[in-house]
Amino acid sequence: MASMEVRSVAQRVADLCVEAQSASSTTLARLAAEYGRARVHEGQSGDGFAALAYGAVLLQMSDGVVALEVLAEAEAIATATGDAPVRLEVLVSKAKALTITGDLQRALECFREGLELARHLGDRHTEAVQLTNLGYFHGQLDESIPYEEYTRIALGIFRELGDRMRVALCLNNLAGSILRRERFVEALGCYEEAYAIAMEIGWRRGQALILGGHGGMLLRQGAVAEGLQKYVQSNAILEEVGDVFQLTRHQGIIGGLLLGLGRAAEAIPFLAEAVQSASERHYEVELAQGLQFISQAYEAIGDLPAALQALRRHCELSKAGNDRRNEDIVRNLKFEHRMAVARREAEAQESKNAELASVNAALTESLERQVELQAELERLVNTDLLTGLSNRRNMQAIGEREIARSLRTHRPLVLMIADADHFKRINDRHGHAVGDEVLVEIGARLRNTVRTVDAVARWGGEEFCLLLVETDLDGAVITAERLRRAMSRSPFETSAGPLTMTLSIGIAVLHAGTEGLSGLLLRADAALYAAKNLGRDRYFVAKPSLLTENTPQ
Ligand code: GH3
Ligand code: MG
Ligand code: MG
Repeated sequence: MASMEVRSVAQRVADLCVEAQSASSTTLARLAAEYGRARVHEGQSGDGFAALAYGAVLLQMSDGVVALEVLAEAEAIATATGDAPVRLEVLVSKAKALTITGDLQRALECFREGLELARHLGDRHTEAVQLTNLGYFHGQLDESIPYEEYTRIALGIFRELGDRMRVALCLNNLAGSILRRERFVEALGCYEEAYAIAMEIGWRRGQALILGGHGGMLLRQGAVAEGLQKYVQSNAILEEVGDVFQLTRHQGIIGGLLLGLGRAAEAIPFLAEAVQSASERHYEVELAQGLQFISQAYEAIGDLPAALQALRRHCELSKAGNDRRNEDIVRNLKFEHRMAVARREAEAQESKNAELASVNAALTESLERQVELQAELERLVNTDLLTGLSNRRNMQAIGEREIARSLRTHRPLVLMIADADHFKRINDRHGHAVGDEVLVEIGARLRNTVRTVDAVARWGGEEFCLLLVETDLDGAVITAERLRRAMSRSPFETSAGPLTMTLSIGIAVLHAGTEGLSGLLLRADAALYAAKNLGRDRYFVAKPSLLTENTPQ
């Protein structure tokens, strides 16, 4: 940063020190403390910190407008020197100053930026400070729910960090947020705990705040005398510590509450003081509120000219756009709050979704398993368990389908029934298990001898059914001969030693306009019967009307 600017900051701090000597001793002490912190940090970021300290003092003296100028300077230095902790401090003060001067939109931006930076720096304390201020900010806009929520989070952090002063502050604010919803008992508990802490640690400003809040609650409850007494106690302390802003606010609050209780005449002096002070110091929010209340109060006591005058001033302020702008801001804030709630709900939903997802995954898995099982079941339902070929049921379905297709496309189709010759003897001689081995081998030889597009099924017992697509009589004869040879080519290796096995085959060629699957089967069966009768180990072709014998060559 340019040295000129550094000097100017240092000069300003020095000037303020002189000025502060004529101010209250408390202000001086605070300035000394802040300046002391600046000195400690010198070398790293002394300049920025000096400006920050100066701005903080101005803010302390409740001059928001000038404080903002100085803080802007401090921010520029901190940004240029990359001093994030100082920048964070600046953001905290700046948000406060912007709130005081009524620039709520920028104040909100500042809060947000400050929170982000605090979290980024892992500075939980400053994060909680920002949350406290943000809550209070909402409180000033009558947004009691976010006020309570932010304050509760901050309170938790301060309790954890053991910052008793801030705990007391948060308790005070929390009481303020919840008494707006008439939860008086709860609020009283907060005030009592807060006040006890403030007394114990000798925190004067805190005592003033808590007394004021408690007084406000009493007024709300209609206990006017007790309420005012608390305010009197509180204001004495505020004067002592030089907190003009809070004093002004108190006057406005007392006035507003009295007005609400129908005690307009009593409200007027408080409101008049509030308006005067707020107007002198540019406390825009307090001024607008004070003017509105006082005009109502004047109207209530019948002083219409005074009411009109106050209302006119209030309208002038509105004309400047403040109220409208604030309405927009309040709307935005409400929207943001709803968004935050929605976000939290969405997060909760997300974790629910994760649960659902795992349940879904399990379901999907079980569904996939189900599908697998279903497929397996279907396969089993359609398969002959001994040979692994299609079973009769499946072959019937295939047969119907292929016959329909063949008739539609005028393509030839052949059905064969092959029956093991003298199979009973194998069972009788070697046992049923060896018979099974032979059946398996027949099946395999059949399957391996025809094309994959052809269907082969175990029709029952030692009978097999074959469906040869796109095959005419010539093709059928060639295939039947191949099948016959496939049996006799080599002996069947069984556990009872090599065995020979032959087949008799009945062939039926599909003719357009024939009787369909059952008719085709009947003719194939008849042809098989003929083959058996003609001495076995042969095929026989069924003709539509007359059976033609084909003996092995
Ligand atoms: P043919 O040449 O006239 O067909 O004589 P065959 O002995 O083969 O005919 P038959 O119908 O007299 O006997 C068929 C035998 O097949 C009877 C039955 O016990 C046997 N069989 C049927 N199914 C099975 C099976 O799954 N396993 C075994 N091992 N034998 C079976
Ligand atoms: Mg047989
Ligand atoms: Mg048989």
